[in-house]
Amino acid sequence: MSPPIIDRLALIGVGLIGGSIARAAREYGAARTIVATARSPATRRRVAELGIADQVVETNAEAAKGADLVIVCIPVGASGPVAAEIAPHLKAGAIVSDVGSVKGSVLADMAPHIPKGAHLIPAHPVAGTENSGPDSGFPELFVNRWCILTPPEGADKEAVETLRAFWATLGANVETMTAQHHDLVLAITSHLPHLIAYTIVGTAEEFSNVSRSEVLKFSAGGFRDFTRIAASDPTMWRDVFLHNKDAVLEMLAQFSADLGYLTRAMQDGDGDALFDHFTRTRAIRRGIVSIGQDSAAPDFGRPHPAKPLAPLARPYAADSE
Ligand code: NAP
Repeated sequence: MSPPIIDRLALIGVGLIGGSIARAAREYGAARTIVATARSPATRRRVAELGIADQVVETNAEAAKGADLVIVCIPVGASGPVAAEIAPHLKAGAIVSDVGSVKGSVLADMAPHIPKGAHLIPAHPVAGTENSGPDSGFPELFVNRWCILTPPEGADKEAVETLRAFWATLGANVETMTAQHHDLVLAITSHLPHLIAYTIVGTAEEFSNVSRSEVLKFSAGGFRDFTRIAASDPTMWRDVFLHNKDAVLEMLAQFSADLGYLTRAMQDGDGDALFDHFTRTRAIRRGIVSIGQDSAAPDFGRPHPAKPLAPLARPYAADSE
């Protein structure tokens, strides 16, 4: 194995993403020492029990001290205050990054606090699950997933390269773009789908003509795939919608127009319009599978167990005495 890219890695926040980075950095040898901290004593205690960091410290300042790479893994709304807290403790040449699902606001909130001589390079691993907390992390989360770096203009090239190499060691494919472009792309590929899932699951809940038990019972008709997304962390997603408001609202306007088009097609009995639209969307799904971003297995590879064998027919009962 080649020597670790990072000597001392500090993780601020150890939930699904921080917990996965800790496990992956150790498993794939990306950092020599991992120091971690979290907001609550309960999470810090759990991280220590899990043994996924070499050191668990009580404060963000302590974690940042002497670190070569600090990754802030908390809801995006909390990035600014945390940057202010760690700034005086950063060593010269330290790289400060994050994993937030929104990049423009993170850059705006963190940059004013980062001292000269330290390098702020926000990042977003486009990988996750609907689970939260340090127990939900796993080392393979980033393998063959994209990690988008959004270095500000004039960012130190060597620092960008170090961060790229770090994420590549965790198995990610790394791409670089501006924070603004990131927020536009993610608004359509992630944020709007989450908003729709949160809406539709809420709508089903309120729909009084169908009982709640029927919604759950017949969920395999498509609904359950929305419920997975709608089970995502409420704090994280509240912050995403508050901090990427403009891009999401822009996509939402386009979405509403497209929904209007399909609504009219149904009203008019325009089967060709519906068929053409569904044919185009089917091609998008096939494109995602063909570039390896999802399994080709039908129904996301869910197991479809065989029908249980019927109990053996009772053997002909011979006349008993
Ligand atoms: P998570 O499992 O809920 O963990 C969040 C962590 O942040 C916990 O350690 C929590 O500490 C800490 N935290 C929460 N509020 C805080 C605050 N106000 N100040 C300081 N720390 C705070 O969340 P996650 O899924 O890892 O998400 C973390 C970040 O990754 C978010 O910015 C999210 O946008 C981004 N992201 C998430 C996904 C995903 O699928 N989940 C994918 C890509 C990127 P306590 O446990 O002590 O409360």
